[in-house]
Amino acid sequence: MTAPAASEAMPAAFLGHGSPMNAIEANRYTAAWRAFGRAVPRPRAILVVSAHWFVNATAVTVMPRPRTIHDFYGFPQELFDVRYPAPGLPELVEEVSEAVEPTWVGADADSWGLDHGTWSVLVHAFPHADIPVVQLSIDAGKPLAYHFELGAKLAALRETGVLILGSGNVVHNLGGLDWDRPDSGFSWAERFDDSAQQVMRDDPADCLRLQSHQDFTLAVPTPDHFIPLLYLSGLAAASGQGTDVLIDGYTYGAISMTAYTLGVKCPDVAGGAGAAAELPDGVPADATNT
Ligand code: ZN
Repeated sequence: MTAPAASEAMPAAFLGHGSPMNAIEANRYTAAWRAFGRAVPRPRAILVVSAHWFVNATAVTVMPRPRTIHDFYGFPQELFDVRYPAPGLPELVEEVSEAVEPTWVGADADSWGLDHGTWSVLVHAFPHADIPVVQLSIDAGKPLAYHFELGAKLAALRETGVLILGSGNVVHNLGGLDWDRPDSGFSWAERFDDSAQQVMRDDPADCLRLQSHQDFTLAVPTPDHFIPLLYLSGLAAASGQGTDVLIDGYTYGAISMTAYTLGVKCPDVAGGAGAAAELPDGVPADATNT
């Protein structure tokens, strides 16, 4: 990580996390996440919007020592043994509340922690686990526009050294996986991901138009993994900037691993080797909570 530059807005990102096994493997995606962590100034805190904290409220974690949550099924013990012992930052809830007024933000002192959407990427991006991490929940009951607008309001936090990170997958259809496509996408997945790349690069303020894309219902059968992208598009729209593709690709035909950054240029890692981590074969994919 480079030296902090107080006058510049902290970068932000959306990382496509895929299988939780990426946490303990090395491939071209994990190499890209590492490159992102090295390229940004050291954040004061990291605020993560993970697909896997999908509840009926907008809340942030306020525990001083958030637990590592192993919220998945069918994976090897090695993955359940992973801990990401970053501290929390209880006072960040006040800054988040102020930034998004009049939207109400709850304070979660004891129910959540750091889920695998968060730690499976942070173990690579910030492997020392020495920067405070706070999660922001996704309110499942709100329309997509709510999340885009909330993301835009969070832009103020970038000015105070908070790195905002969305973790999901732009294309995420666990019911439609093809085990014979470990490193490629169906044509509908490619069409949707290509359109998302175009809008995120050229006009993130228009990201919500992806809802009317011909392949939206196949690419986004449930909104949980797509919504974290809306937080980054909101941030990008608020800054009047486009985002950059950090890395792109597919796993099992129906998951896009594409990642985006805002406000930082990362070295090109596209030449790195390796497909995304696999899913277990003893459990139906849609029962893994990937
Ligand atoms: Zn996931």
